Amino acid sequence: MNRFRLSKKLVPALIVLLGLALAACATVPGTGRSQLSLVGDSDLNAMAATQYSQMIQEGPLSSNQKDTAMIKRVGANISRAANEYLREYGMAADIPNYRWEFNLIQSNEVNAFCMPGGKVAFYTGILPYTKGDDGVAAIMGHEVAHAIAHHSRERASQQMMAQMGGSLLSVGLGVGGASALTSDVAMAAYGLGSEVGIMLPFSRSHESEADRIGLMLMAMAGYDPSAAIGFWERMSAEGGNTGSLLSTHPSDQTRIADIKRYLPEAEARRGAAK
Ligand SMILES: [Zn+2]
Repeated sequence: MNRFRLSKKLVPALIVLLGLALAACATVPGTGRSQLSLVGDSDLNAMAATQYSQMIQEGPLSSNQKDTAMIKRVGANISRAANEYLREYGMAADIPNYRWEFNLIQSNEVNAFCMPGGKVAFYTGILPYTKGDDGVAAIMGHEVAHAIAHHSRERASQQMMAQMGGSLLSVGLGVGGASALTSDVAMAAYGLGSEVGIMLPFSRSHESEADRIGLMLMAMAGYDPSAAIGFWERMSAEGGNTGSLLSTHPSDQTRIADIKRYLPEAEARRGAAK
């Protein structure tokens, strides 16, 4: 008797979950990978923009005009390449979702990031490793690639799915009932505020996708894609002393070997862009 009630309640719940997983998919430009998309870009981008403007206000922004100009110049070139890349893969409709902004923050932290919706910050601590425009373009391309591949949205969607799965299961099991479902999903959505974020490490597959797309973006913008190898090798040589970026972006032989594998395609794009 108990077993019958359990399965009867679980079936619709599982159908809902499966339906969501099938319906709410997006495609990553360039790699063609299918990804889960349960969270709206407008919500995610608005939260990111709020977080970013607070961060910029607190700053302090670098007072070095030459370095600041370099970040803004490379950023503008890479974002133009990103638009071109999105158009190439039939995703021009996504272009207006980005409100690009590039700032250089005065901090010894060795870091740089791009939030959903195109809000980019570099810390001055990373500049000794980028060594000029090509190196900045390497990390700029990588971070912008995380944004146009919607990696944060995918990660938030996966977390939401896991939450819903847990809640639906408890509805099916009769634990907590429907109210548990609503509150858990609401909590998952609410919790996005902290997940939009910035400092959580991406998975290895997201990293390698961002390396690949980033290499194409820097090449399309006219930068030397082989500078990415030099940048990651310098980061790697610094070992534990480089702080944040290295802790979320392990620079190992796998990363460098992958970049070398995609270099010919990037060189060809650079040649075509000239
Ligand atoms: Zn990354």
